[in-house]
Amino acid sequence: MKDFNIQNITRENVKKMSPYSSARDEFKDFTHTMVYLDANENPFQNGMNRYPDPQQKKLKAILSKQNKIPENQILLGNGSDEVLDLLFRAFCEPNKDNIITLPPTYGMYGVLANINAIENKEVLLSSDFQPNVNEILDAVNEKTRIIFLCSPNNPSGNSFDDESILKILKNFNGIVVLDEAYIDFSENESYLSDLKLYPNLVIIQTLSKAYAMAGLRIGILYASPEIITVLNKIKPPYNVNVASQEHAEKKLLQSTLEAQVKKIKTERNKTINALSNLSFVQKIFPTDANFILIKVDDATKRYDQLIDKGIVVRNRSNQPLCENCLRITVGNKEETEQLITILKSL
Ligand code: PMP
Repeated sequence: MKDFNIQNITRENVKKMSPYSSARDEFKDFTHTMVYLDANENPFQNGMNRYPDPQQKKLKAILSKQNKIPENQILLGNGSDEVLDLLFRAFCEPNKDNIITLPPTYGMYGVLANINAIENKEVLLSSDFQPNVNEILDAVNEKTRIIFLCSPNNPSGNSFDDESILKILKNFNGIVVLDEAYIDFSENESYLSDLKLYPNLVIIQTLSKAYAMAGLRIGILYASPEIITVLNKIKPPYNVNVASQEHAEKKLLQSTLEAQVKKIKTERNKTINALSNLSFVQKIFPTDANFILIKVDDATKRYDQLIDKGIVVRNRSNQPLCENCLRITVGNKEETEQLITILKSL
């Protein structure tokens, strides 16, 4: 982090390029009293005949106020998957650079590395799903651009130790992505307030989980203004559509988050209690997320039995350190009751 310099890690073509300038970029003071003949849109008003605001200013203003982060430190995308992809395209040179991921973790980091022709150096988590910090720092070379940390981690559900996260942040001169998709289900604080301390920190959050808007596809990236400027240069101009922006603005102003998270945590505890009384469940891993990873006697058998009874969980057995593991998302009260009844009957 001491020598972090965004110029050193931005791709040459990105440094040199001029971004696409859309009609709405050129004329920014968008109000409905003007006559808009600049974007080849259909003039018949129906609420969606106009292109969306490329900078999603209203949505960012709400997020900025709620999370106390300046708007110029926020980038929105079509789901977190899009903002993650933008990081590769801005900072990783295909066929040259590498990233580090910590399996078992969210699969898209590796998939995006593949798509972008970036080597993915995998450093396994420890048996209690914590980062092996020294091994991670040993794996860094002069071509390492990004280290991906997911906390709470998917699929294990646990949060990473602060000490490990901070050591990586302090000792790596590239970008540290901290994926906080599940942070609202955790008792731990987000790292958002640390953005001012670490210019190499990028925090990813999403409206898909605790905010209950997976269908809208809105991912949030918080970082330094310098990182956001580079990403804005390469993002598709209209990447968050009108309907998603409007729905998200409305929903963020309603206060359903805390009540829903509380209910999900209650169901999580009920599920954990029920699971702990089942003979075929060998281990229930600690979770700070809205899912529970369990080790069972025979994951494929139990998965198939649940499918037969109409319940779909995720078999994570093919992931390292997850042999015979199932990942169960916490549902609502009725779904939890159904799950528990069926589990008891197996
Ligand atoms: N990060 C993690 C850790 C996830 O588990 C997921 C989705 N399962 C995402 C990001 C993607 O979220 P989004 O819906 O915002 O693309």
